[in-house]
Amino acid sequence: MQKKRVLVVGGGSAGWMAAAYLNAALNRKGQKAVDICLVESPDIPRISVGEATIPSIRHLLSVMGIDEIEFMKATDASFKQSIKYVNWLQKDDHAYYHPFSRNRVFPLDHSGPDWLKSDRSIPFMETASVQPGICEMGLAPKMLEKWDFGPPLSYAYHMNAQKFADYLRDLSAERGVTHILENVVEVEMKENGHIAAVKTRDGKRLEADLFIDCTGFAAILIEKNLKIGFEDCSQWLLCDRAVTMHVPYEHHYPGYVRPYTTATALSAGWVWEIPLSSLKSVGYVHSSQFISKDEAERELRAFEGAYTDGLSARFIDFRVGRRKKAWVANCVAIGLSGGFIEPLESTGLYLSDLAAVMLAEHFPFGDDWEPLAMRFNRIMSNRFYEILDFINMHYCLTRRTGTEFWREVGRPERVVPRLQAKLDFWKIKPPSGQDFEDPFFPGQSGKNQRADSHGGDMRAAIDTAGLWNHESYECILYGMDFMSDYYREQYGEDRPPAVVPKHVSARLRAAPHKLPRHDVWLKEMVGMSEYQGPANPGSVWG
Ligand code: FAD
Repeated sequence: MQKKRVLVVGGGSAGWMAAAYLNAALNRKGQKAVDICLVESPDIPRISVGEATIPSIRHLLSVMGIDEIEFMKATDASFKQSIKYVNWLQKDDHAYYHPFSRNRVFPLDHSGPDWLKSDRSIPFMETASVQPGICEMGLAPKMLEKWDFGPPLSYAYHMNAQKFADYLRDLSAERGVTHILENVVEVEMKENGHIAAVKTRDGKRLEADLFIDCTGFAAILIEKNLKIGFEDCSQWLLCDRAVTMHVPYEHHYPGYVRPYTTATALSAGWVWEIPLSSLKSVGYVHSSQFISKDEAERELRAFEGAYTDGLSARFIDFRVGRRKKAWVANCVAIGLSGGFIEPLESTGLYLSDLAAVMLAEHFPFGDDWEPLAMRFNRIMSNRFYEILDFINMHYCLTRRTGTEFWREVGRPERVVPRLQAKLDFWKIKPPSGQDFEDPFFPGQSGKNQRADSHGGDMRAAIDTAGLWNHESYECILYGMDFMSDYYREQYGEDRPPAVVPKHVSARLRAAPHKLPRHDVWLKEMVGMSEYQGPANPGSVWG
């Protein structure tokens, strides 16, 4: 069979993830099945945010045969075990964790329903997982010696997105991916609606069988040439801009590196805190309808502290939504060109990762591309909507009413109808293992909400719990004190206390004897520098 030629246009995280993954997955064992070339502009910068990941990234790295220590050194990475949500329920320092590991109870796990009926004096996830406690103690998810601390703790990474793309670029070039630094200025189409070639400013004509559009928000192939529309989802997620800042540890080091991402609600959105091994990244994701650029920057600086004086801030505008078809003819959009959801659950890189994995599995080696494209589009669309529901849930369960933004996100029309059907069902019975056996919840429409969406596919996207199952929903619902009034009315004020099961408390007690502090692990294993911090840094809670 003739080798297929793949041209990736764009060299941000998405482009290099796609090129490196396809190369690893398709050109295995020295057999070259595809020729991969990546062309990127020498002067259009990458977006270079995307610093928090989820555990699926480890699958990607492992298929590429990447050594964890080498990767962490190259990208200034640290560990991420959880997201900590602060002030989402009310503006009163209320906080809860969404950790990556949970201590499952066998044979029947009743921890959720039991907690619902309890006095809720201990946050739910602290009764169901050791990871919130491990995060509070600032411990790494790995030991310095050989692991002998029971079931592994799931984790992902915080990393420098620019360095990540550079790392994958160098690795891919070493492994046979052709790299061209040029601006694509023209796209040459065939009569059948396929792309024939792209032309660069310097006069190169680059032909391929399959083109991957990784040009970020510019979407030069899929939007500008193939005219595939964008389904706007901003009625459910109002944030459309971020102001971001890097705080190098030379400038300010708090004395610890939190092993988790923090997402703190502010007046018109929320701020991320992502600690790497060399700096802390902060960014205020907000809605331009409710706050000006100046006010947002002021609020971010006030949140972060006086040491942000002198550090520059950067604004990024974004659109929440998805490409109606990510794969059309011989072009596949991956990364920001394919769509974007705000980064509350760190799913941007994940969607590129999933697209690369899906494309490798559905790679069009033969002539019949349509069925492959149809399945690819369907699965990417299902996952997008799964993420949309999940992120929308954080907003619609809030009790914050102090600003116009929070009053607006709490309105019923801001709840995705699919999510509303789930929430209504979980008012009748708590979430459980079989909930996603069938993707339709009572009252949920099986038809697309909008006639023109999904490139003509009239079936509604379904939630296959591919990323988040009922346990993840429990985590957010109970973190946001779901149905507390109902249970108070049903079971009275004198409810049994919430308890931390023995298997969780015993493991937590042992944790500091087994797991090193996160910064200690980073210094010993990946050579994190020594930084001058306060004499008494306090806890990672800061
Ligand atoms: P880009 O980085 O914009 O890359 C586009 C590439 O296309 C560049 O190489 C550019 O040079 C090239 N290009 C453009 N036009 C041309 C042309 N004409 N010719 C040749 N080349 C061209 N994701 C996460 O997983 N975690 C997070 O915490 C996270 N936070 C985010 C915060 C914000 C505010 C935003 C906006 C996104 C965040 N993301 C996050 C998403 C993540 O940043 C992106 O998914 C990821 O960076 C992929 O970007 P990209 O490669 O698609 O686009």
